[in-house]
Amino acid sequence: MESIHRMSSSPDFFRDVFDAIPEQLAVIDSTGALLCVNHAWAESARSRGCTVLNWQKTNYLSICDAAANDGFDGSAVVANGIRDAIGNLDSFQHEYPCIFPGGEEWYSLTIRPINRENDNRFLISHHNITTGTLANKALEIQSRTDSLTGLSNRRHLDELLNGEWRRDMRSGTPLSVIMIDIDHFKVINDTYGHLAGDRCLRQIGKLIQSYAKRPGDHAARFGGEEFVLVLGDTTAEIAFTIATNLHEQIGQLNFPETPVTASLGVSTMVPARGTTEQVILAAADQSLYIAKNSGRNRVEAFGGG
Ligand code: GH3
Ligand code: MG
Ligand code: MG
Repeated sequence: MESIHRMSSSPDFFRDVFDAIPEQLAVIDSTGALLCVNHAWAESARSRGCTVLNWQKTNYLSICDAAANDGFDGSAVVANGIRDAIGNLDSFQHEYPCIFPGGEEWYSLTIRPINRENDNRFLISHHNITTGTLANKALEIQSRTDSLTGLSNRRHLDELLNGEWRRDMRSGTPLSVIMIDIDHFKVINDTYGHLAGDRCLRQIGKLIQSYAKRPGDHAARFGGEEFVLVLGDTTAEIAFTIATNLHEQIGQLNFPETPVTASLGVSTMVPARGTTEQVILAAADQSLYIAKNSGRNRVEAFGGG
């Protein structure tokens, strides 16, 4: 205890500790003026090309406001959060990206009062969370992507379709769904092997993806050799034309081993209140069933149109 007392009387000791902390730290007053920054803060600013010579003559809120005026939405959020924290003697935390040519870095910013009772100085900390954030983002993308084709997987399709169903319900516009099933795919696997089958799935997946052109369009692998194309705000007539073109292009694919055909089922509905997107999937599946039972290699439409 005695040694802590002796050390605590030495401002140099605390200055050294402040500078040794790897997190970027700064202290501001209630106007946003910087009172001091630690070594990590100054170094990080320098590495990003910031040439502030005298931190103590800089107002951090002014820097955030200037960045917000330059169109960086995140800076406006930070500036507002800091002002609220100062006004309420409270803390504020925000995670944000710094995007620059060749990459992006993520930071977690926290501001908290140094002493809630009788102080108007606030500690700001910047913590680099790039590694964890980018890893989480990569995992998130992985969890919604079909690894063979790169299309959305079934789980992500459910989310996307639900979003389009609700959007078209609000606007009273038609939603179309095309379900695509490769004909006699088992024979392709049995005759040319699973690797050839995989190549075929990738090729057809890429073709289907090229049909998802607008923001409300989504291509997904439904499972096995079945795919789904969601077409937001699309009438039955247009969806049928798109399905017919896609059917024709699948038939003309240059799959080297053998020609491939597919059956397509189309459904179009204006989403009714109190219903879920499952009804349009079921209707597209029903159309597909009709296409299969009528001899395959064709497009059938059913429901709502
Ligand atoms: P139909 O015309 O009635 O649709 O007949 P089909 O042979 O296409 O349908 P079936 O459901 O009998 O067979 C689907 C085949 O798809 C069986 C399965 O082994 C194959 N399959 C499912 N997923 C994959 C995959 O990821 N890679 C490969 N190569 N084959 C797959
Ligand atoms: Mg099938
Ligand atoms: Mg099939």
